Amino acid sequence: MSREAERRRRIAARSVLFPDGVAEGYLELAGGRIVASERGAPPGDDVPLDDFGDALVTPALVDAHTHLALVALRGLASGLPPKASVVEDLFYMLEAKLAPGDVRAFSRMGAYDALLGGTGLVWDHYYAGEEVAAACHDVGLAAVVAPTLQDRGGPGREHTERALAATEAIARDAGLRDAGIVAAVGPHATDTVSDALWERAVTLAERLDLPVHAHLAQSADEWARSLELHGATPATRLARAGWLKRAPHVFAHALFVPRPELPLLRDTTLVACPYSQLVFAFPARVDVWSEEGVPWVVATDCAASNDSMSLRKELRFLSGMAALRASFGGDYEGFLAGGEPGAGLRHAAETPEPLALLRRVFEAPGRLHPALRAGTLAPGALANVAVWDVDHPRLWPLHDPLRALTHGDGDGALHALFVNGRPLGAVGDVSGSLRRSDLYEAHREEAEGRLAALMKRAGI
Ligand SMILES: [Zn+2]
Repeated sequence: MSREAERRRRIAARSVLFPDGVAEGYLELAGGRIVASERGAPPGDDVPLDDFGDALVTPALVDAHTHLALVALRGLASGLPPKASVVEDLFYMLEAKLAPGDVRAFSRMGAYDALLGGTGLVWDHYYAGEEVAAACHDVGLAAVVAPTLQDRGGPGREHTERALAATEAIARDAGLRDAGIVAAVGPHATDTVSDALWERAVTLAERLDLPVHAHLAQSADEWARSLELHGATPATRLARAGWLKRAPHVFAHALFVPRPELPLLRDTTLVACPYSQLVFAFPARVDVWSEEGVPWVVATDCAASNDSMSLRKELRFLSGMAALRASFGGDYEGFLAGGEPGAGLRHAAETPEPLALLRRVFEAPGRLHPALRAGTLAPGALANVAVWDVDHPRLWPLHDPLRALTHGDGDGALHALFVNGRPLGAVGDVSGSLRRSDLYEAHREEAEGRLAALMKRAGI
């Protein structure tokens, strides 16, 4: 049997989330891609069929901005003094002491965490990106890997040439591509990357047809440094240089981009990471991004600040953001001071359509890489498919499948998961079977040993 035939199978269920809504239907997977996606019953031929009955079948989620390796620092930020910078005071110090093998071992653990939330594709941005790509390959997670480029600051500034070479090596690696792992070009942030390096990054992106993935204006310090170094705010500097027109840019955070500058970013995609932002800054005003016509998607950032890799929780937070305005607005302050409930306190909550939210972790991030479509159950997309057990107490009864995904605690109800056409874990027990596997135990033990050694080197 050829390799392609080995990976050919059909998946059928009563509820399949097609690009235009939920219906009974089936998918055909082959060679790591979805090759057919149809409503109704599957044909009765000899292609192997997984009939999931009443289950809900969706695309696996796409996490458009993360640092898998930072799962190793989960919970550490809580020991910092209140005014400390998580990135500069803690992460940089530890990251300077990381060995490449540490990145591979820790990234595997982050990859497992992502998979168990139903995520099938991550956009990772980290030092030693070739190790991140290898880790995703080890575990079976699809990825867009951006080796972190720095030359002005940060622990990667000694390794700029290596990171550029790693980007090209990942982009050209046919074995990785076959595993659903491709490259993006990853300038770290506007204050750690010179004009010369950003120019090289964009030139590389043009030459290899890759997107650029970077942090943009994530702190007040970055904003101030940009003014000092370049005489322009972060967004204005990048737009003025012409880089945003030359390659697609995907920017995490963009907290310090004022409204008049947002139109400069209309050809880019912004990434909101609400739970991480609650820890290191404050949640992005995605409503303003929408008003200014800037496309945006949703991601977790990383377990070191989040501390979860579960994307669906981010959607629940976003769906309730409008109500927060009432909590902290003048009408409620007036009421707390003894006044009448003001008009702003009536109907403060607005719940966006679940499908509109889900598209920000499905199709929208799934079309950001020209070489890898994902987040949709349409022919041609990566065969990343999640199957949810709707009889599970976390989801029952399924009055609204889409709302169950955005608001329910459905991770425990992950019934089956296919990434790049391959099943991960056992059907009916994805989490338990992965947890009990010898491979997981070997990966965890290695990560455990390396983390202990890292903490010792860092004197923690
Ligand atoms: Zn980040």
